[in-house]
Amino acid sequence: MQPNSDLTVLMFHGLRREIPEYAKYRGYSSYIIQDRDFEKCISWCHNNAKVISLGDVQKYLDGEATEPGILITFDDGLRSVIDIGCPILNHYNVSALVFLTTGWIDNGIEPSIFGLERQLWHTCPLKIGFRRGDFDFEAKLGSLSAIPKVIDALWRFCFKNQISPLSIRQEEFIFDGQNWQASLDVNVVQDWEPANWREIQKAVKTGTIEIGLHGVSHTPWAWMTEEQLENEASESISRVSQEIGIIPTSFSFPHGSTNELSFKSARKYFDLCFTSEAQKVKSRIDLNKGIPRFNVFSDNPVNINLEINYPKIARFRRALINSIKSRA
Ligand SMILES: [Zn+2]
Repeated sequence: MQPNSDLTVLMFHGLRREIPEYAKYRGYSSYIIQDRDFEKCISWCHNNAKVISLGDVQKYLDGEATEPGILITFDDGLRSVIDIGCPILNHYNVSALVFLTTGWIDNGIEPSIFGLERQLWHTCPLKIGFRRGDFDFEAKLGSLSAIPKVIDALWRFCFKNQISPLSIRQEEFIFDGQNWQASLDVNVVQDWEPANWREIQKAVKTGTIEIGLHGVSHTPWAWMTEEQLENEASESISRVSQEIGIIPTSFSFPHGSTNELSFKSARKYFDLCFTSEAQKVKSRIDLNKGIPRFNVFSDNPVNINLEINYPKIARFRRALINSIKSRA
């Protein structure tokens, strides 16, 4: 493939206008990007490539593209994509592919685990626990700067024990032996709040977003049986078809989690299945092994050029900045 006909797929999650006080301890690895950084990304993409839509992807896969292409994607279907992302995309006259988690949208609320950072910021120091059946997670939080470490430990605990992090209910958390009383920040924007069907439909109609799927429950696909995978695929398709009136043909794996069975099941329902491997898309790739994407972190400043052309340096830079920040 000629370098001038590369396809790069970018993966975003959500956007924010300001970094709230509680999130400043999170360092540089957040999945929520500031609006001005997102605008810089889109401006860079617009100046350095053709920002393509789903219908153009095949041309790149067939090796028939004549200019570099960038496909912008968002996972999950968060409200900030509509509120903050769409006006910026419109300004550059480009569109994004949004992978919806239909159960998340149907629930209409931010999953509990994403509210943890805010809650810990208000209640530190304390002992935090999570209990489900025989699974028992406990950590002592001594200072605000330890919040990212405690949250990372909880995510690792979930993955080690195959507990889907987004399935954790508020009542399964324990703060200093008490139930979670989450009423401290009712006025704060919830970064992981989903958009609703009406908002999504409106953005689809204007052509600013296209729709793909991200399952129903956001459970990692490598953990599920064939029957569960089929249910995730067929149920999410039927929800989008009921609410938006389209049948999505693309998919992204929740948490980037894949195995042989999950690829096989996803390909039965979707033409294009996106993973989270930081690579450019080669023409004539084996579509049964997924299409790679670059996750764009909230580095400050965001450097898309570094991220996609020198991913190893970008990773090293992020690790370095994070280690300096966490010691500060
Ligand atoms: Zn996701």
